[in-house]
Amino acid sequence: GTPAADMYPRKILEYMEGFLVSKVVFSSCELGVFDLLLSAERPLSAEEISQAIGASLDGTQRLLAACTGLKLLNTLQDNGQVLYSNTEQASVYLTRSSPLSLYQSIQYSSRTIYLCWHHLTDAVREGRNQYEKAFGVNSKDLFQALYRSDEEMVKFMQLMNSIWNICGKDVVTAFDLSSFKVICDLGGCSGALAKQCTSAYPECTVTIFDLPKVVCTSREHFVTEADQRISFHKGDFFKDPLPEGDLYILARILHDWTDERCVELLSKIYKACKPGGAVLLVEALLYEDGSGPLTVQLYSLNMLVQTEGRERTAAQYTTLLAAAGFSNIQHRLTGKIYDAVLGNKEA
Ligand code: SAM
Repeated sequence: GTPAADMYPRKILEYMEGFLVSKVVFSSCELGVFDLLLSAERPLSAEEISQAIGASLDGTQRLLAACTGLKLLNTLQDNGQVLYSNTEQASVYLTRSSPLSLYQSIQYSSRTIYLCWHHLTDAVREGRNQYEKAFGVNSKDLFQALYRSDEEMVKFMQLMNSIWNICGKDVVTAFDLSSFKVICDLGGCSGALAKQCTSAYPECTVTIFDLPKVVCTSREHFVTEADQRISFHKGDFFKDPLPEGDLYILARILHDWTDERCVELLSKIYKACKPGGAVLLVEALLYEDGSGPLTVQLYSLNMLVQTEGRERTAAQYTTLLAAAGFSNIQHRLTGKIYDAVLGNKEA
């Protein structure tokens, strides 16, 4: 039949330009627009901004206009000229120096994730990640590819770090973990979640277990000596013995791996875990009926283009935990990106 006269593919047109929006945010951050407006402490003209960031006036004007349309910049008219300033969201999340900055995540999206997604069609066809095509690295070992240079590793660590300033408190307090005193954060990376644990639970200590070069970098750049309740343990969680603990945290670890590898790791944790102890999974949970959340559905594709894993439902995590021996498995949604699943080892 003929489509109704008022039918208009608004959503589809919006989806088509989704990547244009992403690129405006990426480029504005990379050019330092938001940092400049923060440090200027007064609204600036396009001329002033283009000169300060070393970009063409024409290009800068168009970029600033797009940021205004995206409500990342405010404008005001001053003697016939337009002046720009950051919106509050831009100041808080898009400037480098802000404690809640997403700048590093945006950089990683722009320089790494965007390039992998260029090969999404191939990833779906082949059912595997696109590191080789995107970056010329052909490694059987996922993290050898991700950490193909020290620079890439630090960038990845900064990416991992930033989200816990925003969602960390919710995931560590989703369950009352106060009875667990000796916590081991497996794949604990930059220690952002470990810090959330020590601040939420004054009696606990946290050991960050990660690959040797990640531990060295974390110690050097992310966790200060002042964090006396946080310590480190270098190792490979698939190959080396795990430290004994009351609670093991696996935050965004299982989503990197196949079901087989997940059960292998969880079984190892079950053996190391003290009776009465537990494992806390921190992951973005899919709805059981597959209807959402959209962010997690997109993350699952992101895991396809970049890793060996996938995002899962609470029931799927429950199956993996039960296969490794854990019981009394519960999950809690936080309403933000990441949720929590707790499995216990009987006392
Ligand atoms: N848990 C952190 C978070 O949520 O911010 C980091 C998650 S990141 C996706 C995966 C982490 O697992 C990285 O820090 C990586 O270095 C670590 N990792 C990967 N393979 C590992 C292995 N075989 N042994 C120990 N750590 C490993």
